Amino acid sequence: MSAVPSREALAALRAALAAGGFEVASAPADTWSYGSDNSRRHAPPDLVAFPRTHDEVAAIVRLCRAERVPLTARGRGTATTGAAVPVMGGLVLSLERMTRILELRPDDRLMVVEAGCLNGAVQAAAAPHGLFWPPDPTSAEYCTVGGNVATNAGGPRSVKHGTTRDCVLGLRAVTGAGVELRTGVRTTKGVVGYDLTRLICGAEGTLAVVTEVTLELQPLPAATRTLRASYASAAAAGRAVAAVMRQPVVPCRVELLDRGSLEMVRADRPEAGLPEGVGALLLLEVDGSQQVLDQGLAAVAAAARVEGLVELRAARDDAESAALWAVRKALSPALRRVAPTKVNEDVVVPVSRLAELIERIEAIASDEATRIVCFGHAGNGNLHVNLMFDGAAPAEAAAAGRALAAVFRAVLALGGTLSGEHGIGSEKARFVGLELDATQMALMRTLKQAFDPDGILNPGKIFPL
Ligand SMILES: Cc1cc2nc3c(=O)[nH]c(=O)nc-3n(C[C@H](O)[C@H](O)[C@H](O)COP(=O)(O)OP(=O)(O)OC[C@H]3O[C@@H](n4cnc5c(N)ncnc54)[C@H](O)[C@@H]3O)c2cc1C
Repeated sequence: MSAVPSREALAALRAALAAGGFEVASAPADTWSYGSDNSRRHAPPDLVAFPRTHDEVAAIVRLCRAERVPLTARGRGTATTGAAVPVMGGLVLSLERMTRILELRPDDRLMVVEAGCLNGAVQAAAAPHGLFWPPDPTSAEYCTVGGNVATNAGGPRSVKHGTTRDCVLGLRAVTGAGVELRTGVRTTKGVVGYDLTRLICGAEGTLAVVTEVTLELQPLPAATRTLRASYASAAAAGRAVAAVMRQPVVPCRVELLDRGSLEMVRADRPEAGLPEGVGALLLLEVDGSQQVLDQGLAAVAAAARVEGLVELRAARDDAESAALWAVRKALSPALRRVAPTKVNEDVVVPVSRLAELIERIEAIASDEATRIVCFGHAGNGNLHVNLMFDGAAPAEAAAAGRALAAVFRAVLALGGTLSGEHGIGSEKARFVGLELDATQMALMRTLKQAFDPDGILNPGKIFPL
C-alpha cells in the first residue's frame, strides 16, 4: 500500500512531468484548493496535474507508479466523505480539462463523454433530443460524470431509474498499473465475462482513473405532477412511503423532509408556504404521458393516505411544483450554513423499515442530546441523517460521535446499508467492517491489488488504513 511520498520521489516525479510537457501546478497557493471536498477535510496535494486526453492520463498514472507517488483523481470536489481529499499528499489528477461530449446517438439512446464533463452539461445536451441521463444528484450543475461514476451517485430519480451504476453502459479507464481498460458494451444487453463496469462504479477512484463514460439515456417524460403530503410524524410519513412503493405505479421522485428540515426551510424561505405544526412532509412525483398521469397521481395519492396524514394536495401548476423542488434542493446548503461542522450520512434501509429507522433515530437524538435533521430519497429507503453539532465544543462532538455509531448499528440491524450514494471515502472507512465480513474484505483487497498493484490510487479510502 502507498505511503506518504518521499521528497526524492516527488522531485523525480516533478522532473518527469516537466520533461513530458504536462500541465502541472505545484505552488502551495495553486494546490491548496485541491486538498478538500465537501467533507471539509483538508490535506493539500504536492502536485496537481491537468491532463487533456486519455493518453495523458495514462502517462501520468505510469509516472506516479514508477515513483510510488499516490494519485487521487478529482472531478469537482463535491464529495461529502473525504473521498477526493489526498490524505497522503502526492498528486491530484484533475479531470477539469476533459469535458468533451464525444458522441451522442439518440437512436441508440447513448452518449459518450469525457469523465470531467459536468452532469448538468450532459442533461443540457440530451434534452433537445427528448432524452435525459437519470443520475440527478442535487449537485448536478457542478459535479462531473467521472465523480458520479466513482461514487455511484444517485438522487431523487433513483427511485425509478436506479443509481449511476444502472445507467452506465461502459467505461474507458486507466488502472493503477497504468494499463488502458475498456469495459462494457454499447448495447442495452450484454453478458460476456465479469461486469467490470459495475465494479468500477462506486470504487471511489481506488481501482482505475475513468477517462470516458458511455451513458445510457432515457426518454424525457412528457409531463410530471407533484403531490405534497404532510404527516403528524416522520414515522407516519415513513409508513406512507412503504405503502406508495408497494403499489404498482412507481413514482419518479419520493422525498421526505422531517420536522427539523421543515423548520430550516421555513426560516430560510418563508415564501415557500410550508405547512405549520406537522412532523414531516413528503414530495411525491409521477411522470408519463398526459393520458396516464391522472391515473398515476390518483394511485399514488390513495397509497399515501395512511394514518397520520394531515394534508394531501397536488401542486396547482408547474410553477408551484418547481417551487417545492427548489425548497428540497436548498436544504443541504442551508443545513451546512447553520452547522458548518455537521456530519451528513446517507444510510439506507428497506422501505418497509423506514418508519422504524426514523423512530430509532429520534430516540438516539434524545439519548445523546444531539440535534438530528433527516431528509432524503425516501422511495429508496435512503435518508440523509444530519448530525448538527459544533465541532469546536468537545462534549457536543463526542455525543455526535456516539449518536453516529448508534445510527449505523440501527441501520444494519434493520437490514440496511451504511451508504446509498455518497460512498465511504475516508470519513466512514472505520465503520466498513461493521457491514462487510472478512471474506468480502479479503476479496476486495485482492481486487484492489489486481487493479492497482502498488496501491497508488486514492489510498486511505474505503478500507481502514
Ligand atoms: C450540495 C450537494 C448536494 C449533493 N447531492 C447529492 C445527491 O443528491 N446524490 C449524490 O449521490 N451525491 C450528492 N452529493 C455528493 C457529490 O456531489 C457526488 O458524490 C458527486 O458524484 C461527486 O462528483 P465530483 O465530480 O465532485 O467528484 P469528486 O468529489 O471530485 O470525487 C469524488 C470521488 O470520485 C473520484 N473520482 C472523481 N473523478 C474520477 C475519475 N474520473 N476516475 C476515477 N475516480 C474519480 C475521486 O477520487 C473521489 O473518490 C452532493 C454534494 C453536494 C455538495
